Amino acid sequence: MSLHKDEAFVLFKRAYGESDKIIRLFTRTSGKIAAIAKGASKSQKRFMNTLEPFNYIRIEYFEKSGKGMARLENADIIETNSGIEASLQKACTASFFTEFVDRLTKEKEPHEPLFLALKEVLFAVKRHMFSYADILYYQFLMLDMLGYMPNFDSCVYCASTIPNEKKVLFSKERGGILCVNCARFIPHTVCGEGVIPGLMSIINQEKQFANIIFERQAQDIMEGFMSFHLDVEFRSYRLLKSFIL
Ligand SMILES: [Zn+2]
Repeated sequence: MSLHKDEAFVLFKRAYGESDKIIRLFTRTSGKIAAIAKGASKSQKRFMNTLEPFNYIRIEYFEKSGKGMARLENADIIETNSGIEASLQKACTASFFTEFVDRLTKEKEPHEPLFLALKEVLFAVKRHMFSYADILYYQFLMLDMLGYMPNFDSCVYCASTIPNEKKVLFSKERGGILCVNCARFIPHTVCGEGVIPGLMSIINQEKQFANIIFERQAQDIMEGFMSFHLDVEFRSYRLLKSFIL
């Protein structure tokens, strides 16, 4: 067994037996880990309030070689989740992104850029309410890091360049836009002129949609893409949608 020191965000926790807790953490240097915190439910002092979801903590844990859960030895708060619980909308936004990281990563696969993106999101959620454009921006940032970025630049089938005003055909199956020729034999949805450039402007941090109709169409495109490629239902998304969209 070896002792590891790291920093992490708490993704998930649940009680285990009479006095323990099982937690999932996204660590800076080792990616996602599952750990058991012995005595966390019993003792008020040990791990007091440190293992709440969205907390940013410093940890020490033992890991057995091979499989199995890590054993959390110590945890201190670097920054609490304070501010996130101020509104249900903020809590839902934070839940959505922690769930995103939790479901789209495997255990013990280090991914520091994703850790830093999660940190940025959770800190930003504390400061302000997210618009749909904000959510999309961070979603794109993380999708890109995980290698799932949709292609909005050129035809996803023949690679021909498409001028902005003709970016209106999107194939969720192929994960990108189509030219008129390829759209003849590849299933796709048609969106309004300006919707795809709107999505691209969000990636470039301009974070604006021309109007609500564009926003709805952008949402349809992204939801279709996500459900087809990631095969994951985000429980928190439905609730988040009821606030934001
Ligand atoms: Zn084409």
